[in-house]
Amino acid sequence: MPSDWAFVSVDMEITNQCGSECLMCPRDSITRSKGMMSEEVFKTVSEKLIREGSLITFSGMGDPLSHPKVFEWISGIRNKNCDVGIVINPASLHEGISQRLIESRPNSITISFPSIQKEVFERLCPTMSFEDGLKRTQELVNLSRGNIGLRMAGIRTEINSDGSEEYVSFWKKLDVRSNVTACHGRGGNLWNPDIYRPKTFGLESGRCGLFQFHAFVTWEAEVLACCHDLTGDTRIGNLINDSVSVIAERKQNILGSSMPFSVCQRCDEPLRQYIPTQSSPPKNRNERRRFFHSINRDNLSLCQSDRLPSVY
Ligand code: SF4
Ligand code: SF4
Repeated sequence: MPSDWAFVSVDMEITNQCGSECLMCPRDSITRSKGMMSEEVFKTVSEKLIREGSLITFSGMGDPLSHPKVFEWISGIRNKNCDVGIVINPASLHEGISQRLIESRPNSITISFPSIQKEVFERLCPTMSFEDGLKRTQELVNLSRGNIGLRMAGIRTEINSDGSEEYVSFWKKLDVRSNVTACHGRGGNLWNPDIYRPKTFGLESGRCGLFQFHAFVTWEAEVLACCHDLTGDTRIGNLINDSVSVIAERKQNILGSSMPFSVCQRCDEPLRQYIPTQSSPPKNRNERRRFFHSINRDNLSLCQSDRLPSVY
């Protein structure tokens, strides 16, 4: 297990490319370079994170299922007794993908399924029909039963502000865990008043609790403050050249004062409100599980392509 909070949970962006056009996703505004993680970068980064005992999640501003190595890499991490999750979108569940995903044995799968209301779903995810998305998702749900922890992630926006209970009860009937989180502005990068109105919480504190226990690594091994950084301006280091401990120390120094990045001054990410813990990082999987459950209880869930690591 990590000796420092900084790498307890790591989002690995194996690609920042995606064929979908979700309304709540600002990925069109990415100005840092776009591409797919190479074998060499993955080998170096994953070896460091596996040695550290991080909980790795394939996610970020892109579609991890579009990466040709995704299943091999999930299996490789699992074979080294490390935990790995993945966040996916139903649009990527083409023929045979669900079966291959299950066979690769991730610890957890989070499906971004924004709404169970057809008109809301199709407005937020205009590249696929609700019926098709639901059919593909149900196939994966059936394949995952008894094998892999699966969770549905819904989103509450200005066009479905009252649908949360209906959402959770819909998935509960299918014996699937789910939660709905409020849409936030992705570090001020989401500009769409039809579905999202900026909130003010967190901004005044200048702090970010999420930053303490969560790291974000791009396809080029850059460690950024989080996935809301679309420019690369929050660079803290690079896992090809820097050790985990050096980057952890840099993060510690940043945490000691106000977040120095301009993206943080516009960020209404709910988890930034989490008060950084003074206790030691989790020593084993059970302690890690309890930690993330405690955040869930505080109702500080992450949104959309971010998410609470859910290896439980
Ligand atoms: S939310 Fe995910 S699936 Fe949708 S456009 Fe963004 S990266 Fe792609
Ligand atoms: S304040 Fe927001 S943008 Fe800054 S590191 Fe935290 S989550 Fe990311």
